[in-house]
Amino acid sequence: MSKISAKKEPASDFENLVRNGIDFLTKAISQLESEPKHSVINFYTGVEIFLKAPLVHEHWTLVVVDRDLNRQNYEAGDFLSVSFDDACTRLATALNKPLQKTAKEAFDKVRKHRNRMVHFYHSGINGKQKEAIKLEQAQAWFELNRFITDTWREEFKPFQSEFRRMERDLINNNHYAKAKFNSLKKKIDGMKNGGHVFEDCPGCGTSALHVEEEVEDLITSACLVCFHSDKRVKLDCPACGKANQSLVAYESFECKKCGHKVSDDDLFDLIDQNTVRGTKDDLDSDTPANCDECQSYHSVCEYQEGYVCTNCLTYFDHLEKCEWCNDPMTGSSADTYALGCEHCDGYAGNVGDD
Ligand SMILES: [Zn+2]
Ligand SMILES: [Zn+2]
Ligand SMILES: [Zn+2]
Ligand SMILES: [Zn+2]
Repeated sequence: MSKISAKKEPASDFENLVRNGIDFLTKAISQLESEPKHSVINFYTGVEIFLKAPLVHEHWTLVVVDRDLNRQNYEAGDFLSVSFDDACTRLATALNKPLQKTAKEAFDKVRKHRNRMVHFYHSGINGKQKEAIKLEQAQAWFELNRFITDTWREEFKPFQSEFRRMERDLINNNHYAKAKFNSLKKKIDGMKNGGHVFEDCPGCGTSALHVEEEVEDLITSACLVCFHSDKRVKLDCPACGKANQSLVAYESFECKKCGHKVSDDDLFDLIDQNTVRGTKDDLDSDTPANCDECQSYHSVCEYQEGYVCTNCLTYFDHLEKCEWCNDPMTGSSADTYALGCEHCDGYAGNVGDD
């Protein structure tokens, strides 16, 4: 591919592709009950399109097999598109973001089923087979949703509202969430017996939200069905003293009892457990530190014998120091003398290019 110039294509290739992907998925979902065979075929077409979309976003040549690299033919649709395996490989090698193993497995299942549907004649599909198709699509859908709204969030941003709409439709019909929940029920029951706690998920509505106390008063939850996740800390309202109020990551605080609000700028003081801050004993405090999870400046305070970022609520058991600017940070300080941290340019940034 090195012969091809690195010039970026206008966004339209990508946009057209994504619109097609949404079309195929919407169609597949509407056919699930009435025409399962066509649903399988259209669903896989949708999956394949989304898989290739980040490649097209980077450069159209990434979805074309090497011997067919001709823009005119590409525009005419006269080209051989890369295979499923090659698309997965190119996501990893050309874009440096390999597909998650569980996603690849889920997509591959749909692909093989699609091939069976296309190559062998199926006269009818019974209820049991229909349930299997539904589960297969459910697993692929949640992986695809994570691929689109998390891994490739920036690229797919212009389509966020359309994905949300599809998600809402699906949740209302409870098509996929229920199917996937049922397939996980044994595992969830087993975990419950082992003392794990599950709650209703705000994302998909099933009770597959696994809730854990990471350290005292810091709660993390992750849904086994839809991958929704969040973090919150429990604290007392600074105005009325009401205990066990929740502060959710990336949000500001509002007391459920008295309505008292704490703005983002004051969250640090609300969560911080350093008892000597601002006094003469504060000299060797290593906070506020910078968060390398969410790239916030001076957002990390002392918390439960460790540290927590008051923006993303990630917990850290130790801090390091940038070897160039000396600011405490949550990430690794290796190479920071030369290259700097998120908030400085290091030695390299302070000398001329040559
Ligand atoms: Zn969920
Ligand atoms: Zn209050
Ligand atoms: Zn953070
Ligand atoms: Zn620095």
